[in-house]
Amino acid sequence: MLDQRDWYTTGLDHIWLPYAQMKTAPAPLPVVRTQGTRIHLADGRELVDGIASWWTACHGYNHPHIRDAVQRQLEVMPHVMFGGIVHEQPLTLARRLSEMLPGDLDRVFFTDSGSVSVEVAMKMAVQYWLNVGEKQRDTFVCFRGGYHGDTLGTMAVSDFETGIHQKFGGILHRHHCVALPESPETDAALVALIGQHADRIAGIIVEPLVQGAGGMRFHCPKVLWRLREIADSYGALLILDEIFTGFGRTGTMFACEAAGIVPDIVTLSKALTGGTLPLAATVARRRIFESFWSDDPMAALMHGPTYMANALACAAANASLDLFEDGERLRHVGRIEQWLAAGLSSCRDLPGVVDVRTRGAIGVVELQRIDDLNALRSAFVEKAAFIRPLGNAIYLAPALTIGEEDVAFLTGVIGEVLRERR
Ligand code: PMP
Repeated sequence: MLDQRDWYTTGLDHIWLPYAQMKTAPAPLPVVRTQGTRIHLADGRELVDGIASWWTACHGYNHPHIRDAVQRQLEVMPHVMFGGIVHEQPLTLARRLSEMLPGDLDRVFFTDSGSVSVEVAMKMAVQYWLNVGEKQRDTFVCFRGGYHGDTLGTMAVSDFETGIHQKFGGILHRHHCVALPESPETDAALVALIGQHADRIAGIIVEPLVQGAGGMRFHCPKVLWRLREIADSYGALLILDEIFTGFGRTGTMFACEAAGIVPDIVTLSKALTGGTLPLAATVARRRIFESFWSDDPMAALMHGPTYMANALACAAANASLDLFEDGERLRHVGRIEQWLAAGLSSCRDLPGVVDVRTRGAIGVVELQRIDDLNALRSAFVEKAAFIRPLGNAIYLAPALTIGEEDVAFLTGVIGEVLRERR
């Protein structure tokens, strides 16, 4: 067996890292262990994790309840294909998700990543219209600042003009990317646009309450309520991408609950398995599913990832849902929100800071600009915090189990680094 230095140095020459200019990015940190809110590095350092592995590890790392469930499943059946045969974990999970989601969102299609769950949502929406005989509806309305994934279909409904996917603009399907209806002007513009193209619009897709990867921008529940109203008046479907916001992140189990609306299709991933295994779900309302229910084989949904409904991942997800059952996670999000707000408030007066905001277990310090992203990331690590700013936003989205001391530590580090940066 190779020791740590060997696997690191020999492997680095062969690995391709995400979102990284491999030539100039600082060397990635070798991690050997995780526990709770801690990331342990090979050199013995311990980092307090501010972002829970891209917002997945909602119960902290290595939660014993999830670990035991996965171990038990591993003994019995790690994976079996999902075509023509079914098994307990995904069926139980589908029932539980249907019971937890509002309204008649009660058909669950499993995939293995967030992007693919959005692709499936888009295919469901377009085919819904084909199945009901409205063959022109092939275009989506999406929003500035939005992000729905890195695949070609999902990049096309993200804000690719200004975002990380600009280079691909030329080969992406053209949808309508507009401002969220947050003011009378943007509302009128959206209504005018949809009115003009109503017969072509399959759906409206939005990240509810928080546009995450696009810069942790918040909007109020009223916007979602209004989108539901507009979608209804033009017959468009409303797709909510709850991949980031689902499972308590914004203070309710699902962000749509804050607006009291039921989307036609919802996508879930990230915290679905408590951050242990890859899994995603696209959940449709009954009338969407019913349009596929037919004697015509071509009216079926033609999608089926090889690893869909993986038994280990579904076992992890069922165990993760158990941990939400007594309501304590959501109550704790309320506490985290207060600690984040208290801890970040002193950043408000620092030079270069344009906004400080919190919602649920998300705390954001937005800067005028960040030129030195790599230096900033390294400065956090030097102070034993793992925080990865996005765009112009330094943000925290920690485990929903994080304690007051850790939150104070992380918010304190952000303040210190910003003060030293002056
Ligand atoms: N939608 C949203 C809202 C996301 O935040 C992300 C991931 N950051 C995705 C979709 C894509 O998920 P994945 O990376 O699992 O493909």
